[in-house]
Amino acid sequence: MSRFLDARLNSLKPYVPGEQPQERKYVKLNTNELPYPASPKVQQAVEQAQLASLNRYPDPECKVLREKIAASYGVERDNVIVSNGSDEVLMLAFTAYCGKDRKAVFPNISYGFYEVWCDLLGVPYEKKALKADFTIDEKDYLNCGGTVFIANPNAPTAIDMGREKIEQIIRSNPDNVVVIDEAYVDFGGESCVSLINKYDNLLVVQTFSKSRAMAGARLGMAFGCKELIGDLERVRFSFHPYNIDNLNMLTGIAAIESADYYKDACAKVMATRARLEKRLAELGFTFTKSATNFIFAKSKDIGGEMLYNKLKDRGVLVRHFTLPEICDYNRITVGTDEETDALIAAIENILEEVK
Ligand SMILES: *Cc1c(COP(=O)(O)O)cnc(C)c1O
Repeated sequence: MSRFLDARLNSLKPYVPGEQPQERKYVKLNTNELPYPASPKVQQAVEQAQLASLNRYPDPECKVLREKIAASYGVERDNVIVSNGSDEVLMLAFTAYCGKDRKAVFPNISYGFYEVWCDLLGVPYEKKALKADFTIDEKDYLNCGGTVFIANPNAPTAIDMGREKIEQIIRSNPDNVVVIDEAYVDFGGESCVSLINKYDNLLVVQTFSKSRAMAGARLGMAFGCKELIGDLERVRFSFHPYNIDNLNMLTGIAAIESADYYKDACAKVMATRARLEKRLAELGFTFTKSATNFIFAKSKDIGGEMLYNKLKDRGVLVRHFTLPEICDYNRITVGTDEETDALIAAIENILEEVK
């Protein structure tokens, strides 16, 4: 830190992303990417992108991409905003709907970035403890007097709380916005997008990073009534009007046009997930009911951190969190069948060693 950094940022603890080793020698099951490539159409879009257009600014309103997304989700263009990764639109929502007089409310175990944004923006927040089985207690959020942020399915717990409970939360907080972060919804969760025109206080955030194999492109989106989307655009145009570059716009459009491809890819991930769960259970692991592309698992024979380290020694990266409530667990991304076999073999080898 230099002596020039504003004092209010001295104690900021930045978000720590999962490891992204650049040498690529690991079986990489630590950051919940899709293990399959982007669709042929997306690859084509990248290959055919006219580099010449890089001298022009992109459309700051992203009309074509928003139109495509809207049509594919059965909403209007004005119900959609696109962002540089869903992280950006989440940050816009914290900026727009929280302030020193309006706290943010979210689970104590969830996407770690929520707390970082609050600290950065000087927003007070209240964390609600999960139940012992790691589920979210909807009662904690009824009429809770702040802007609610819930990842559903939640991460790293993988559990989906269902639309009905979320609807109770939305209804009981008519004077506050409820933000549902659906980063993993395409792997078996229940989406709330269909509710955006029923409730003027619901914002639903999704991403191209997980189920659409585009983590490297940085594209996210949010759905809400026209007024909410207008608020977020107001903030975005005060901050980053050209947030989606020309190439990203083309890949986004191609991805939306590849819905069948991604549906198949997600189905494959879910089939592999079932196979991995079965084997992990046989090997003495317990885990939550996953509606995501990862498994949140704990071994009866070895601690979470030790398993993480021993897997890393064997070339397999998973995600371990040091929070005491979840330090016995690891978050394991569901990879290809081959990657899953490598993971299982490594775990078998480790368990033999420690037993
Ligand atoms: C991955 C993730 C995000 C952010 O993804 P982007 O790559 O920024 O779109 C947001 N929320 C949750 C819960 C996530 O797991």
